Amino acid sequence: MGADWQMPRRNEACTGCRRAFEVGQPLQAFLYESRAGYERRDYCLDCRPGAQPEPLGFWKTRRPAPPTRKTQPFDREAIYALFQQLEDDEEPEKIRLRFVLALLLWRKKVLKFERSEPAGGQEVWHFSVPRTDETHCVPRPALDEDQIERLSTQLEQVLAGRPDELDLAATDAEPNLVATDTDPENADA
Ligand SMILES: [Zn+2]
Repeated sequence: MGADWQMPRRNEACTGCRRAFEVGQPLQAFLYESRAGYERRDYCLDCRPGAQPEPLGFWKTRRPAPPTRKTQPFDREAIYALFQQLEDDEEPEKIRLRFVLALLLWRKKVLKFERSEPAGGQEVWHFSVPRTDETHCVPRPALDEDQIERLSTQLEQVLAGRPDELDLAATDAEPNLVATDTDPENADA
């Protein structure tokens, strides 16, 4: 159902100057958390977001070629860099984001889960990076499985630049969003 159906994509133009991005144009993506979930805003390199709301993090990327529906981009390096940016942050929303990013990177095989252990009233998950032997300790935030699943699904869509995530999450009226794409990363694994 509706696999070819597409909404206008919010991230096809700079949030600041509203100029449309050209394919391959470098841009900076900023990630925010609102009550409805994660939201992404893309800016051209000449524009900067305002100081408020404060972004959770940002990464550099390029405007991808129009989606073929088979190759949704997942920029491992940029997403891993975003994960690293949050390393020493103690704000709850950043701890939340970092954990959800870790799950995503784990699914994409950038991170490898090693073990979880209790630490000071919470749980810390240990991950390694197979390519470099780096390790990361990631505190598990106080969220239940459903919340984590929901954030994780939504974050993946936001990172891939899917259309209008925030509005859909807010109105809760878009079954296509969960039903359309399958994850291409799993196919070639
Ligand atoms: Zn701009």
